[in-house]
Parts: sequence; structure tokens; C-alpha cells
Amino acid sequence: MAYVAMARKWRPQSFADMVGQEHIAKTLQNAIEGGRLHHAFLFTGTRGVGKTTSARILARTLNCTGGDPLHPCGQCESCKDIAGGTPMDVFEIDAASNTGVDNIRDVIERVQYPPVIGKYKVFIIDEVHMLTTGAFNALLKTLEEPPEHVIFIFATTEVNKVPQTILSRVQRFDFKRLTVEQIRSRLRYICEQEGINATDEALDIFAEKADGSMRDGLTYFDQAYAFTGNEMNADAVRSVLGIPPVELFFTLISAIEGHDLKGCFKMVDDACKRGIEFTPLLDGFGKFLRNLLYARLDAFTPDALNISEEMFTKYKSVVPELKNGDILRISKLLIDLQGTLRYSTNPRLLVETTFARMAWLDRLTDLRRALAAINDPKSASDEALKKKVTEVQNMLDAEEEAKALQQQDSNPFAALQNGIASGYNGDVYSRYEISAAWGSVKTRIADSGDFAFSVALNDTVLETGDLKATPFPIALTYLGDNASETWGVKQMEEHPEYMERIKQMLEEMLQTQVDLTLKSRAFNESELKIRKQAQMSPYELDLEKEPGLQKLKELFAAELIYSIKSSRPVAPQQAEGCDTTESDE
Ligand SMILES: [Zn+2]
Repeated sequence: MAYVAMARKWRPQSFADMVGQEHIAKTLQNAIEGGRLHHAFLFTGTRGVGKTTSARILARTLNCTGGDPLHPCGQCESCKDIAGGTPMDVFEIDAASNTGVDNIRDVIERVQYPPVIGKYKVFIIDEVHMLTTGAFNALLKTLEEPPEHVIFIFATTEVNKVPQTILSRVQRFDFKRLTVEQIRSRLRYICEQEGINATDEALDIFAEKADGSMRDGLTYFDQAYAFTGNEMNADAVRSVLGIPPVELFFTLISAIEGHDLKGCFKMVDDACKRGIEFTPLLDGFGKFLRNLLYARLDAFTPDALNISEEMFTKYKSVVPELKNGDILRISKLLIDLQGTLRYSTNPRLLVETTFARMAWLDRLTDLRRALAAINDPKSASDEALKKKVTEVQNMLDAEEEAKALQQQDSNPFAALQNGIASGYNGDVYSRYEISAAWGSVKTRIADSGDFAFSVALNDTVLETGDLKATPFPIALTYLGDNASETWGVKQMEEHPEYMERIKQMLEEMLQTQVDLTLKSRAFNESELKIRKQAQMSPYELDLEKEPGLQKLKELFAAELIYSIKSSRPVAPQQAEGCDTTESDE
């Protein structure tokens, strides 16, 4: 007997089988039982959560003559017709490939004729948001006054792209992403039915990787099953799906916490030996860091994070020495690494160097010393490790050389790009980075809803001291006459925690220790000029820029009320009268 994919074999056949969408099944059942059926439905939700499957169940349920309004019998003429694959009364259109008006005209044409076998003609339009405006308009009339025997079921992953005119004429159902528990329990049920011996841990892997989609979960299950057969354990499943075990990341984060470079290198080696590619490895670590942070903040339930209770507890208790800010900084290094990895000629070394940086995050200047200590012939006996350390040292040298070259470049954006591309860029920051960081800090404070704090930062700039000093001197500076007397400065003085929060955010963004001070001073000359210009109307600016106009204004004691740019270059004789300072005659 041919192998039937689990995804197909265990596709739900009735609303009773629908996992995770009970709220929708219930509403539809009530409508069917009560005979209050809408003629158009919209099923929205992310991919693989059961929209199309539900549409098919609904189509079958509506046309079944078996007597039970909730469970299609599978025996009647309509059920058999639909099961046959080319049903006469149910039409499925994939709008992703049939976007045009002609496709919809075809639908409208068919709407006219009564159903052949069942009570309804059902049109299922998948990915309906892909239809063109013309196609939507053509559909609209039919939707307004559909024949009694017609039911439309639209499915979409992007409901925001469906026009309001359509939305107002359908009954909308929002499909939820499935939780790990829901996917796991469905897989458990399938295993029981199929006689497959799977461990809980193995099923968790499918459920987590499925990321809320039952269809994806079943696809991964199929992939693994083809390899493992009836005995499924976690290691086999991971190796089939190329998933790094979460244990690797617990090892890595502990090594980072303990400044254990050897542990970091060993983890990479371990991953390589297991045949795990760098992309899933780094993706996995990113997800790990996110879970770590969320579990610590306690703002999310294990369910919301798609992890088990035990795992949640483990996340909460691991690496207590690392602060949340450290985890954010590690994430930043990771994101930078993910961005540069594919351009690297030696990805493994790049990954190792970055992990080493993470481990020496709070004392980066000492990283070389740490490497040297490992490489010391007296203290190290592991030849492979010594070789690794030399490689990383060489990589740091190469990076520094490249940075030095870039800093010779007068283009200030090169420094900025350098900062973004390599994460930590030594001890030097450009003023563009600082002002960008200050912008984000202010936005974050405004977003946090702390209104007084946010307003207190009006009329401030960040001024930097010695760019190479550690900690990095930054002054939060209030500008204006009597700036030191302003409400903002008073707020900052009364709330030392404000300064502390700003300091933390800057340290996160600039990835270095910051020495933040409070300062106030009057505007300097160039700032005054910029301020004045900012307050001027466009006409006043024109006056400022055009000495001729200024002269005219003084001569006739006139006022400029309107100015317009000449579309043609002004010829000398025309300009003559205006410009009294430069005459050709
Ligand atoms: Zn039936």
C-alpha cells in the first residue's frame, strides 16, 4: 500500500477534529443548527492554521444529506462527490494564481446555475487578498445580492489587504495560531492511532518548529517519520530536521556568563560535529535569547512562548549573573553576525570570534589579554585550542586594520556603517551614532508612557568628551538662556533614576560603558543661527539668502509677502535692478 502523508491522512474531516479553532467551529455549528447561515465568510489567520481545511469541512457539512447537520456522513452522494476530488458543487479558486477580472467573471458565470447534487454551490477563494481591484469590484455585485444557493468562503493570510467593501459584506472568523500544547497533543493522538512510539521531547521539537502551524507540524512529522520509522526520539528528529538542541545554547550562554572562551569554541565545534549549519544555529540562538529574556521578564506565559513549563523554569533560573542589558547586547552582536555571515569567507571563524566577544562583553578591551593567556605555552596544553586562539587573534587584527582604513575615509557615514556592520567598533564612535542613539533613547522613553520624563528631555543634546576614553564621557546638555533653571533640569536633578535609565540605554546601544553627566549652557553662535532659521518662515529664509531682496526691502521700507522661484535662469539685464552691489555697467 502506498504511503499516505500524515498531513493528508490526518486532515480533519469534521469540525470536531479541528484543533485550536474551537471558537470558530462552535459559531459555525450554531449557525448551521439555527439555520442562520451567512452567505459569505472570511477566514483569516497565518498559514497552516486550518482555514482552507475548515472551508472544505463547511462545504461538505452544508451539502451533506446524511441527517447529522454537524458531521458530514461520508456516505451520501454529495460527500462521495466531494471526496472524489472533482466536486460538482464546490469550487476552489487560488487567488494567488488567478488574480484577474476574467477569473472572477468565470466564478460569477457559474453562480447563476443551481447546485447539481447538494443544497449549495460553494465557492472557496483562497488568498483572496491577491485579487486585483477590478476583480474585487466584479465580485462585489454578486456579494451584495447572491442567489439563495450560493455560499462564498474567502480565506486570507493578509486581511488588511482585503478592501473594506468586501469586509463589510462577509462574516469574519479569525483563526488562531496553534499553541505547542495543541500541536503536540494532536501529534500524540496521531502517534497513538498509527502505533508510532514517540517521546514527548521529540513531539515538542515538531510542535516548536511548527511555529503555530499545524500543517507545518505535520510536514516535519512526516519528514522525520520517513527516517525514524515507528521509533521516534528527540536526537533522531533533530538530526533529520537540522535543529540544534537547546542544550547547546544553555551550554553557550553559561560559557558566555563565565567568560569561558574555551567553552564557546567547544560549543561551535560540537555544533559542527553534529552537522548543524550556521544559519539554523544562529536562528536557534536568537530564539533562545528571546525566550531567555521573556521568561525573565515574566511578561509571557510558557504557552505564549511556545515552550513547556519545565523549560520556562529552566530559562528563568539560568545565568543569573547576566543582566537583561547584557542579553540585549549579546542579541545585538548576534544580529550583526547574522547580517555579515553570508559575506564571510570563513563563517566558522566569524561565529567563533563573535561568541568570544559575547563572553568578554563587559571587558572587551581585555579580550586580547584573555586570548593571550590561553595561548601561553605555560598555561595551555590543548594544541587545537591554541590554534583556535591564534586564528581569533588574527581575525581581530584584520578587523582592526580594516577599521583603521575606514576611519581614514572622510565620509562620516563610513564610520556609521562600520559601526553597524561590526557591532562593537572598538572605542571610537562617530557623532552620527551618538545622535542616532539619542533619538532612539528619546523615542523609547516617549513610548514607555512616562510623560514627565519624556517632556523633561526637550531642548537637550548629547555632548561627548574624549572619544577614546573609557568609560565614554557623555553630557546630557540643556540648551538655552538660564538653561540650568529650567523645569527639565530640575526634573533630572530630582529623579536620579532618569539619568540611570538613560545611561543604561546608551550603554546598550553604544555597547560600552558610559559616564553620563548633566550639563546646561547657553546656545553658541552657530546653534543660535540654526534656531533662528528654524523659526523663520520660508519667505524670511528667502530674504536671508538673497541679498538683493534684502536691499530692496530696506530701500522701499517694504515687506516681503510672497516669493516664487524663477523657472528660467535670470539673465544679467533682468537682475540688474535687483542687485545693486554687483553691476555690469
Ligand atoms: Zn454526507
